[in-house]
Amino acid sequence: MSSASLFRVDLRRLILLLATFSAIVTLVNGFYASHAVQRQQLIDSALESNRAYAQKLADSVDDFLRAAQQQLAYSAGVVGQRFDQGGMLLAEVDRLRLQTDTFNSVVMVDAQGRVRATSPEALQIQGRRLDTPGAVEALREKRALVSEPYVSVAGNLLVFISHPVTDRAGRYLGYVGGTIYLKQKSILHNLLGAHYHSDGSYLYAVDQSRRLIYHPDIHRVGVQIDKNLVIDAVLQGKSGAMQLKNSQDIDMLAGYAYVPSTAWGIVAQRPTHAALAALDDLMQSVFYKSLPLVVVLLGLVGWLSRLIARPLWQLADGARYMDKSTTAESILKIRSWYFETSELKRAMLVGVNLLHQKIGKLHQDVQTDPLTGLSNRRGMELALSVWQAAQTPVAVVAMDIDHFKRVNDGHGHSAGDQVLKRLAQLMRDNSRGGDVLCRVGGEEFLMLLPEARLEVAEQVAQRLRAQVQNTAMAPVGHITVSLGVAHWPQHGSDMAAVLKAADAALYEAKHTGRNRVVVAPRATD
Ligand code: GH3
Ligand code: MG
Ligand code: MG
Repeated sequence: MSSASLFRVDLRRLILLLATFSAIVTLVNGFYASHAVQRQQLIDSALESNRAYAQKLADSVDDFLRAAQQQLAYSAGVVGQRFDQGGMLLAEVDRLRLQTDTFNSVVMVDAQGRVRATSPEALQIQGRRLDTPGAVEALREKRALVSEPYVSVAGNLLVFISHPVTDRAGRYLGYVGGTIYLKQKSILHNLLGAHYHSDGSYLYAVDQSRRLIYHPDIHRVGVQIDKNLVIDAVLQGKSGAMQLKNSQDIDMLAGYAYVPSTAWGIVAQRPTHAALAALDDLMQSVFYKSLPLVVVLLGLVGWLSRLIARPLWQLADGARYMDKSTTAESILKIRSWYFETSELKRAMLVGVNLLHQKIGKLHQDVQTDPLTGLSNRRGMELALSVWQAAQTPVAVVAMDIDHFKRVNDGHGHSAGDQVLKRLAQLMRDNSRGGDVLCRVGGEEFLMLLPEARLEVAEQVAQRLRAQVQNTAMAPVGHITVSLGVAHWPQHGSDMAAVLKAADAALYEAKHTGRNRVVVAPRATD
């Protein structure tokens, strides 16, 4: 295959190109659409699961804080009757701290703000006035409270939960309070930190003043966050989900929920890239799943394009050799299975037939004498060559008009032509379908009679001679002809010798008086 045909733009390649192109476009489009849908689904499901998770934790924290307050409320009721009994107070604070894991430390404070009992026992503050923000607030408000987080005397970041203690008459005696550490091990810390993901997902909690009260990075606990859309939303008491960039500029899918009892916000978030990590695998499986179909499709297209192009290619091939005699036949064999090719085929067959008719006519014209319509010398030679090839025996009758010069001289050349035409008609009348009649010179003729015996040829010659003699040819009147008869292979092994013998016989006829038939002498005579 030459390089020219390798890069030829043909129908098959065009179909293939078009089909491949549309297959790729469809595939890419499908991929793109599938990618977009899957991506959105992954994002939506990550947002939803984070929202649900944040909500669940917010509920848990809320429940936990309410339970803590209930414990303090119960203790307040118990110690309210015997607030002067120091031992009892000590036993109660220990029980509060040790019975559950709720509090890191517990304290009983009287109405003047002096510490009456602590657990664990810290003698240095026993009897002192407590002036931490939580203590001051509890004393001032005289109601159940959860403080904002603050740093304690001992340097712990904590929240202080307190409940007022009153006697039977409802007189304010002081309060019972418990601390929950935010940075160290505490039940709240456990609750929020229970779930940790290696993919960069994490959870944090903020209070109303936008301070982190829980964060997996312990050093960030206590830090205030200024600008953050999630914190804006959650501290307005809303719960929901959103996509945003975190402080490290990482795209995050965040779910958030509000803790009503403390007005805190809980945020669970997952890096978008982690949520989308599954997408590549998904797309890969989409690709591998659709690959066999694409391959089959392309194979089908290849096969179909060949099927479509084949009749056209065959027709084009036929058009290249329109003049060959077998072309019509081979065009007829082409399977034109769709409209355009069958129309083309029809048109080409008409064209080929017309062409062959035209060529046939040309051949005939070349072989025909225009005046008489008989074969000329070329036609004669053609017929002889065919018979020679087939070894068909042929009888030859040579004929010449007697004294034709006189006809021309007496009546004019066109009258002579009329005589020639009339004579040609008489020759036809005296011949069979397979005979070939020729005008080989001005007024010289040959009759070729295939498969006729010499005697039959002689008879034909005699009959013609007699008819000519008896036919009046206006305006000339009667004429006569002389004829010589020979036969192949009886008068020579090659055709030229036989023609020569017929001529010689004709010459003999002229010399022995004209208006007669002479049969060439046999070689053996
Ligand atoms: P003969 O054959 O009997 O010996 O005498 P002839 O007068 O026929 O002599 P010849 O055959 O030699 O003459 C040929 C003449 O035929 C010469 C010419 O005037 C005439 N002739 C040849 N071709 C044509 C033609 O196409 N049309 C006409 N009208 N005459 C022709
Ligand atoms: Mg002559
Ligand atoms: Mg003559």
